[in-house]
Amino acid sequence: MLKRYRYRAYPTGEQQHALSQLFGCCRVVFNDALAARESARRAGRPIPSKSELSAALTAAKTTPERAWLAEVSSVPLQQSLADLHRAYANFFDSRTGKRKGRKVGAPRFKKRTHRQSARFTRNAGVGVLEPGGGSGFVRLPKIGRVRYESSRPLPAGPSSVTVIREADGRHYVSFVVDEPARVVVPAPPARAAGVDVGLTDLAAIVYDDGTREKVDNPRWLRSKERGLAHAQRAYSRTMKGSRNRDKARRRVAVAHRKVRETRWDHHHKLALRLVRENQAVALEGLSVAGLARTRVAKSVHDAGWSTLRRLIVEKAAGFGVVVHTIGRWEPTSQVCAGCGVRDGAKPLDVRVWVCASCGLVLDRDYNAAVNVLLAAGLVERVNACGGSVSVCLHARTR
Ligand SMILES: [Zn+2]
Repeated sequence: MLKRYRYRAYPTGEQQHALSQLFGCCRVVFNDALAARESARRAGRPIPSKSELSAALTAAKTTPERAWLAEVSSVPLQQSLADLHRAYANFFDSRTGKRKGRKVGAPRFKKRTHRQSARFTRNAGVGVLEPGGGSGFVRLPKIGRVRYESSRPLPAGPSSVTVIREADGRHYVSFVVDEPARVVVPAPPARAAGVDVGLTDLAAIVYDDGTREKVDNPRWLRSKERGLAHAQRAYSRTMKGSRNRDKARRRVAVAHRKVRETRWDHHHKLALRLVRENQAVALEGLSVAGLARTRVAKSVHDAGWSTLRRLIVEKAAGFGVVVHTIGRWEPTSQVCAGCGVRDGAKPLDVRVWVCASCGLVLDRDYNAAVNVLLAAGLVERVNACGGSVSVCLHARTR
C-alpha cells in the first residue's frame, strides 16, 4: 500500500536558491512540452509522444536558450514530463467517462507564483537520514542535505521524494512509501457506521447499535474562511505588477494554508475515530449534497469530502476495517429509511419532515445516513416499524 508522508522542510538560504532554480527548470520543461503538444494539436500534426518530448528535452539542453536545464538533476525534469502525460491522461479519461468523479480540466501552464514542486525517484540518488529527535535529512542531488521536521520516522525507504514550495513560501518534503497493510489486534468492535456528509454539519453518523451523532465543522474553520475571503478581496483590489500585489498574494496563500490545515486536521481525527471504533464504515461514493449551492462552495465541499473519504479508506486498511462505498445514484435524501417509500426531493432548507406513508419523523441527515447503511447492506429493514432501521432512526443520543 502506497502512503504519503509530508513534512515541513527547512532548506538553507543556499539550498532555497538551488531549489528555486530546480523548480524553475521543472516548470519550463512542463510548459515547453505543453506548448509543443498544443501547437501540434492546433496545426493538426500528430501529438508528440512521450519519447519524442523526452528527446526534445535532451536536445534543448544543448541550445543556448535552454542550456541552464543541464545544471539541475535530470530526474525531476523527466518526472515533469511524466506529470504532463498523467495530466493529459486524466483529462481524456475524465472526458470519456473512464475516470469517475469531478471533471478534470486540460493541463494548464504552470506559473511562477503558484505552488512549485520537483519529484525525485529512488534511482536519482536520494538518501534519507533520520537520526531521531524529530529531525530528518534528505539528500537531494545538486541540492544537498535538506533538513525536515519529522513527526514519526518513515517505515521504509521512500520510492519517491517530492520537494514542494507552497505559494506562501513554506517548503515541504513528501515521501511516498510502499508499506504492507498491518492489521491491528485486537479487532475493532463489531459495530457499523453509516456516514452522510452534510452542508451545515461536517457529517451525520448513524451506528447499527442505534447510537448516532452529528460532527460539526471545527468552530474556528469559519473564522479562518472569513480571513481567506478577506485576503482574497484585498488581493483583487491591488494593482497588477505592484509590490503590494505580491504581498497580498502571499497573505492569500497563508490564509489558504490555515483553512486547509484546520480542515485536514479535523478530517484526520474523524477518520481515525471511525476506523478505530467500527468494524465497517459505509459512505456515499460521491458528494451529492451540494447540488444546489454555488460552484465555489461546492468545489470546496467536494474537495473536503474526497479528502475525508481518502483518509478513511487509507486508515481502514491498517485497522482491518471494511469500507463500503455506495453509488451516487442512491437517493439517500428522498427515501424514508423507515418504510422505504420514495417521496421525492426536498428543498435544502427542509431539515425535518414526517413520512406521509409511515408517519416517522425524519431528520434529513440521519435519515440519509441510515439509507447509506441500508444501501451497504449493514442494517436491515424488516418492516415499517421493526428491525434495525427503526432502532437507528429512533435512538436518541447526544
Ligand atoms: Zn416512511
